[in-house]
Amino acid sequence: QAKTAGRNTLRFFDPDMQQAVTARAALESDLRQALAQDEFLLHWQPQVDSQGEMLGVEALLRWKHPQRGMVSPAVFIPLAEETGTILPLGRWVLETACAQIAAWAARPETAGLTVAVNVSVLQFRHPDFVDQVLAELDKAGANPRRLKLELTESLLVSDMEETVTKMAALKRRGVCFSLDDFGTGYSSLYYLKRLPLDQLKIDQSFVRDLLSDPNDAAIVRTIVALAQSLGLHVIAEGVENESQQQFLAEHGCHAYQGYLFSRPLAAEQLQAFLEARTHAA
Ligand code: C2E
Ligand code: MG
Ligand code: MG
Ligand code: MG
Repeated sequence: QAKTAGRNTLRFFDPDMQQAVTARAALESDLRQALAQDEFLLHWQPQVDSQGEMLGVEALLRWKHPQRGMVSPAVFIPLAEETGTILPLGRWVLETACAQIAAWAARPETAGLTVAVNVSVLQFRHPDFVDQVLAELDKAGANPRRLKLELTESLLVSDMEETVTKMAALKRRGVCFSLDDFGTGYSSLYYLKRLPLDQLKIDQSFVRDLLSDPNDAAIVRTIVALAQSLGLHVIAEGVENESQQQFLAEHGCHAYQGYLFSRPLAAEQLQAFLEARTHAA
């Protein structure tokens, strides 16, 4: 049959396509076992203020695959969402983040630091999400005020009622919320007004060419002004150089995350980063 199909029809047994499908399936099945095999770890990227004081960290998931080495979250998070692996994985991230908060509470220099955790839509939509977050906080004995959940605008597309109810329940306990990758999604100002948010996080795509692209500069100024008028904090991600930071500071954004200050750090590196700062102070 494949023979009679002719040259211009899609061949069913395209070897390249076959290979891509097989590779993906392999990665998927590896992903299911990776949690049990302890292949995930978190890196921690500092968030700082205009004085260079550390405000907290964002927890960023890493997968250390035994054969492939480090797999980017841009690759495996979408797969984890499709397969449902994101649910136990997201819970593990919350557990690890809460343990970090509790460990930092023991020392006055670190007790005020926040830990930001990325939450996927599937995870947030799970009926037990609120209870799971509260359970992890309780289990670790972590102060809920130090936990910041990063949500994306994709949550706003449907089920606003559910989103507001869940956020409000967590906020009552002290948990804060940041809207990640802000400006790249579908937020309408109406939704933005209704959400009990604490912070907007300016997406790195607007920060990158801030100084050369007047549109990006205008967008950044608008986001900062919007945050100010809604009474929200604002942080910029992907800050790589001093000119970007200076522009942001001049336009009212005083919290930053990016390579200019630090790359995402492994646990031991973060420890060293914190110690260097405490000694300098
Ligand atoms: P995100 O939450 O927007 O995280 C920021 C990304 O920007 C991170 O990529 C970080 O390493 C990178 N970054 C930080 N500073 C700079 C900089 O100065 N320049 C540039 N070019 N990039 C910078 P990463 O770690 O590869 O994570 C990619 C995305 O994967 C995250 O984007 C987030 O959406 C997702 N992700 C990471 N960890 C988790 C997690 O635990 N759960 C979920 N659901 N998603 C996660
Ligand atoms: Mg994030
Ligand atoms: Mg982001
Ligand atoms: Mg981003």
